[in-house]
Amino acid sequence: MQKDSLEIKAYAKINLGLDVLRRRPDGYHEVRMIMQTVGIYDTLILKKIEQGIALTVSMSPDETNPPGGEGEVPDNEENLCYRAAKLIKETYDIKEGVSISLMKRIPVAAGMAGGSTDAAAVLKGMNSLFGLGLSEETLQELGVKLGADIPYCIKGGTVLAEGIGEKLTGLFDAPDCFLLVAKPDISVSTKYVYENLKPDTLESRPDIDGMMAAIQAGSLDGILGCMENVLQSVTEAKYPVISSLKQQMEAQGAAKAMMSGSGPTVFGIFKEEEKARTAYETMYRGNLAKQVFLTGFVNPAKEGR
Ligand code: ATP
Repeated sequence: MQKDSLEIKAYAKINLGLDVLRRRPDGYHEVRMIMQTVGIYDTLILKKIEQGIALTVSMSPDETNPPGGEGEVPDNEENLCYRAAKLIKETYDIKEGVSISLMKRIPVAAGMAGGSTDAAAVLKGMNSLFGLGLSEETLQELGVKLGADIPYCIKGGTVLAEGIGEKLTGLFDAPDCFLLVAKPDISVSTKYVYENLKPDTLESRPDIDGMMAAIQAGSLDGILGCMENVLQSVTEAKYPVISSLKQQMEAQGAAKAMMSGSGPTVFGIFKEEEKARTAYETMYRGNLAKQVFLTGFVNPAKEGR
C-alpha cells in the first residue's frame, strides 16, 4: 500500500577531485569530478495534501539564515525543494498537493550540494509518494533541468561526473576513512568562483584517471595522491581562512585536507579515528569554523537508499 507521508535523509557530497576542462559558449563549464556522498544530511518530511505545495524550512541551531545573503535558505518558490515539487506536479499532471518540511543541517552555500540534494530527495520522494514508477534515469533527466549536481544527488555514492556534472559513471565504493568537515562562517557564491576561474592557466589539476584506478584497487593512499580541486585557488585567494583550515587539519594528522566544490567547506581525510576525534574537538572549540562535523563516506547500498 502506498504511504501518505515519507521521511527522507538528503545527504551532502564532497568532491574528492574536481577538474574544469573548459568554459562552454553557453556559460556552463565542462567538468570531470569524483563525487562522494558523506554522512551529513538534511531531513525532509513529505506529505500528501489536497492541493498546492506547502514548504516549511527550519535550520539546525548552529546554522544562521541571514536574510538576503548567500547563506539564506528561501522558504518560498525559490527553494529548490519547491521547484522540484512543481516540476514533478506539472510534468505528471498531479492534482493532489504536497507539503514539504525541510530541516537543514547541511552547511548552506558551502560546496556540499545542499540545495541539490534536497531537490533530489523531493524528486525521489514524490515518485514514491504518488506511485509514479519513474526510473532513476528519468528522475535524473528531470533533475538536471534544475541544477547540474541534482542527477548525481539522485544516484549518490562514489561517482565520476562529467559533462556539466550530469554524465555519471558509478564507481566502486571509496574505502572507508574518518572525515572531518569544517565550514567557516562565510558563504561563497558558486557563480563568483566559476567566473573568476581561468581554466587555461591552471597550475595543478587532479589526476581523475589515477583516482579511478585507486578507487578500483581500494587504495586510500592512491586516492589521496590524486586529490586536487581547481576551484580552491580562486576561493582561497578571497578567503584566507580556507588555507588556515587546511593547515590546521593537516597539522592535526589529516592525511590530506582540501576544499569541497566551490567552497568554503574544507574536509580532512584521516586514517586514524583518534586523531580525527582530537582534531574535531580542537576545531569545534576553536574559532576558524562555525560548523564542524566528524563523519565518513556513505554509499547507497549500505544505506539501503
Ligand atoms: P553546490 O555545491 O551545488 O554549489 P552549495 O552547497 O554551494 O551547492 P547550496 O547550499 O545549495 O549551495 O545553496 C546555494 C543557494 O541556493 C543558497 O544561497 C540558497 O539561497 C539557495 N537555495 C535554494 N534552495 C535551497 C535549499 N533547499 N537548501 C539550501 N539552499 C537553497
